[in-house]
Amino acid sequence: MRFDKLLRIGFPALCVTLTLFLGANASSLYRAQADYLHKDQLERSVLIDALGFNTKTLVKLIARYGALKSPEDAAEARQTYETLVTAFETWPSDAYSEIVGPSDYIQQKLINIVYASNRVEPYLDALDDQTSVSNALIILQGIESSLEQINQMVTEEAGAQMAAARNTFHFHQIVQDVLVVAFLLASLGWIWFANRRSQMLQRQLDTSREQTDLLEHRLNHDSVTGLINYRIFAETVRSAHEKLSDGQTLSILNIDLESRLPAINKFSLATEEAILTSTADLLRHAVDRMEGENCLARSGGKGFLLMTISDEDLGLTASVIAKRIHDIFLRPVPTTVGSFLISPAIGYADSSTVERDAADIIRNADLAVSNAVSYSRRRVVTYEPAMRAEMERRTIVENALARAIEANECLPHFQPQFNLMTGRIFGVEALARWYHSELGWISPSEFIPIAERNGDIVSLGWKILETSCSEVQLLPVDLSLSVNLSVAQILSDDVVAMLDECLGRTGLPASRLKLEVTETTLMSDLRRIQTTLSELRSLGIGISLDDFGVGYSALSYLTEFDWDEIKIDRSFATKAVKDKKLRDILKMVLGIAETMGSQVLIEGIETVEQRDVLVDIGCTIGQGYLFGGPMAIDDITTLFFSDHSRSTLAGL
Ligand code: C2E
Ligand code: MG
Ligand code: MG
Repeated sequence: MRFDKLLRIGFPALCVTLTLFLGANASSLYRAQADYLHKDQLERSVLIDALGFNTKTLVKLIARYGALKSPEDAAEARQTYETLVTAFETWPSDAYSEIVGPSDYIQQKLINIVYASNRVEPYLDALDDQTSVSNALIILQGIESSLEQINQMVTEEAGAQMAAARNTFHFHQIVQDVLVVAFLLASLGWIWFANRRSQMLQRQLDTSREQTDLLEHRLNHDSVTGLINYRIFAETVRSAHEKLSDGQTLSILNIDLESRLPAINKFSLATEEAILTSTADLLRHAVDRMEGENCLARSGGKGFLLMTISDEDLGLTASVIAKRIHDIFLRPVPTTVGSFLISPAIGYADSSTVERDAADIIRNADLAVSNAVSYSRRRVVTYEPAMRAEMERRTIVENALARAIEANECLPHFQPQFNLMTGRIFGVEALARWYHSELGWISPSEFIPIAERNGDIVSLGWKILETSCSEVQLLPVDLSLSVNLSVAQILSDDVVAMLDECLGRTGLPASRLKLEVTETTLMSDLRRIQTTLSELRSLGIGISLDDFGVGYSALSYLTEFDWDEIKIDRSFATKAVKDKKLRDILKMVLGIAETMGSQVLIEGIETVEQRDVLVDIGCTIGQGYLFGGPMAIDDITTLFFSDHSRSTLAGL
């Protein structure tokens, strides 16, 4: 760069310097040329004048008069003489002195010539005398000879000066040539440099243009799939929505991979990217074959967004497209790292709803997919206006939860647990309850998942545990206490110490406490959780497997740990009445539990019929609305001692 700068300044500076030199040298050259031409002329004038000084003519005229005595010759001789004398007398002042220069020798010669010429005059007056003729001729011949000498000297000097002038002229010519060549070279260099520089600038411009394009591409596209990103998608939808004509419908589909592929979070980044890339390719392929105007994009999370615009007569409704997309994933998706069965959740909405804004349609599809992910067992969900109200409620709940936990607004209620054979309460399960000033009672099924998502579940869990331990410890009877433990709590490093401290603080004996964990909890990190549960068990706390038989149920979980209790999900209580197969499974589970030394508790017993069927199978303990729902601790005491409690059970 420094070299460039040097050239950028150096070349023009060199050219300017050379131009100045050229100009200066040109004027020297002209001067030298003028000198040269001037000397030439002088040389010639000296010669002409010298010849003009026709001494010889005078000599000839005098000699002829001496011989022939012709008066014309005498007159002509006199006239010539006068001219000569006049010329001689004017010598010191005119150009001759300049010609002869400051040479003393020549000056002396000229003085002698003037003197000698004056001596001729008396002889001219006496030309009839032969001696005068001879004397005049002798003096004139002397003058002639002196003039010849001067002429020769002047000529030689003029020649020398001419030669010097010629040399100077040649020198300046050469300098001029050299300067011209140098100037040309410098100019060529400058042109070359300027050209090189402009090429370099062009290259830099091209590179920066490429980089700008690349940056723009990165800004607008997802780096994994190459699809446009959410921002560009939203802009595309907005402009398409503005141009939407009558009879056209704009549909938005939100295709979410994350929720329906729980294991995606356990994949390595490379696997996850391979799955996303292949899914994007599949979708791209499907969209390419789709009628109407389409736009596929990567959503903010692990999913995709699709916009379609279709005319009424095409019949390509959002639900048809959703079905098509759904069907693509019925087969495993081949990726570079193997094939995966992906069942994305699909939520969709279209422009036929009351929302007139493009952003609202995208949000509706978003709501629909959230619904599919969190609250619905269906994979494809269409937007319904109620979802908006749900979402608003969810937002209120989300925003108020942390403060509610802090303000002890979330407190435990207790659901009694009964011995189905004796009809006596033997324990209670603590279930969180939250009374919101505007929304009223909020179910844990609503706020527990929110607390789990935002991390509030840990503080909530410890508060429920601490409060329920203190309250149950104060009961006048020795009932056992079951408390639900979230995965985040179990995975906390200090879970064992926390529980130990809690028991110490509240005074509840460890043997009265049971902690309930679900199968999904175990799935997050089986080995670690097994270790923690063993440590808790060694404190004397009972460990219960909650909601067995629901969701990802696997018999293997029964044997993964020495459960003190297995709680059968409430769906069994309902279905067992009519379903013999289910009753058989239940019997089998009872058998396994007996072998393992675990007690089995049936949840959700709502009717006497259900209770009887379950007792028939061999179930001995249970909980459910038949005996009592979650209630305040005082109500538990009342229930325990009330006749109602006993009369309910008297029907056994
Ligand atoms: P869960 O631990 O399986 O609790 C049993 C749920 O079944 C309770 O719902 C209870 O009210 C309900 N239930 C009891 N008997 C019947 C019945 O006869 N029929 C029907 N249909 N339902 C019955 P709840 O209180 O809404 O709690 C829902 C879930 O929220 C709980 O399921 C538990 O997983 C979670 N949860 C509640 N409190 C806490 C807590 O303090 N910590 C944690 N981590 N989770 C909690
Ligand atoms: Mg429970
Ligand atoms: Mg349960």
